[in-house]
Amino acid sequence: MPIGEFSERSGLSAKRLRSYATAGLLVPAAVDASSGYRYYAPGQLRDAQLIDALRAAGVPLAEISSLLRDPSAAQLEEWAELIDIDASQRQEALRAARRLVEVGHDVLPATETGERTMPTLTAAARSDIGRVRENNEDAALCLDHVVAVADGMGGHAGGEVAAALAITLVEAAFTGQSVDELVAAVRAANRAIAERADTMAGLEGMGTTICAAGAMAGGQVAVVNVGDSRAYLLRDGELRQLTEDHSLTAELVRRGELTEAEATQHPHRNVLTRALGVGTTVDVDAAVHDIRPGDRFLLCTDGLFNELTADEISAVLASAPDADAAADALVGRALSHGGSDNITAVVADVT
Ligand code: MN
Repeated sequence: MPIGEFSERSGLSAKRLRSYATAGLLVPAAVDASSGYRYYAPGQLRDAQLIDALRAAGVPLAEISSLLRDPSAAQLEEWAELIDIDASQRQEALRAARRLVEVGHDVLPATETGERTMPTLTAAARSDIGRVRENNEDAALCLDHVVAVADGMGGHAGGEVAAALAITLVEAAFTGQSVDELVAAVRAANRAIAERADTMAGLEGMGTTICAAGAMAGGQVAVVNVGDSRAYLLRDGELRQLTEDHSLTAELVRRGELTEAEATQHPHRNVLTRALGVGTTVDVDAAVHDIRPGDRFLLCTDGLFNELTADEISAVLASAPDADAAADALVGRALSHGGSDNITAVVADVT
């Protein structure tokens, strides 16, 4: 029968039939020498439909060709299994992608299975609007494997939206596998915030800092930050700042042009040199620290460390009996010193 009729009866377009002929899968029974017109045998209808079904199932051309030469039900079963495996891998990858982009949705951290020993954090978070600001644009995350603070900025609801996005993505993405998970979460947050700032009315110019610490197998903690929210570690009574601020005043302190104390009073102390939501890409500071039982971490926004000296922070952390008491005392001190900004502290003890 001519190609037009064969096409109609098989349900395959002439174009598709020509491509199967070119691939050597379904060669016309005859080709008219003068016109080049193609003719197919009725017996080729089944092959045509079989090829098409296998193509729709994603089977490669070379494998279809071998099946046509030697049709076998066992081969089809094998492909069915491979497709199941492939589909479940792709579903798993999509679930991971969904965790990275979904916001305002409760996402449980992936369950840890088996052998690896994961240090546990006993953490407490406090966030206070302070005595001057009209809303609290800080946000915190407080779980037993990951903690974070974010200090949002921007008009209207922008700061709160940006900080919440950053916290949600950190929560969704970190499973304790690697520091790269935290860095990827921060990058994803940056894109999500920038995109929303561009497309949603009232959110223009929003941004946020982020500082996150996550416990990993092997007794380590991953710490990442962008902006001027900080992570500190108190060990054996000694306080150490683990992060560098990305702010104008911090740059001046690093260049020796300002002292730490002057920086906390500087009129431009709020000017950041890096933040999430500002550009399409962002530099993320990341480090991995060994930890021991008894270590006490503090993550906080500038509303805390601009009100308390490092010595005060150290003394409170060293004397508080537990994470709850430490977070309470730190925020209470910042309020009593003026509370000129939103104040957020997360204290996490390694157990
Ligand atoms: Mn702040």
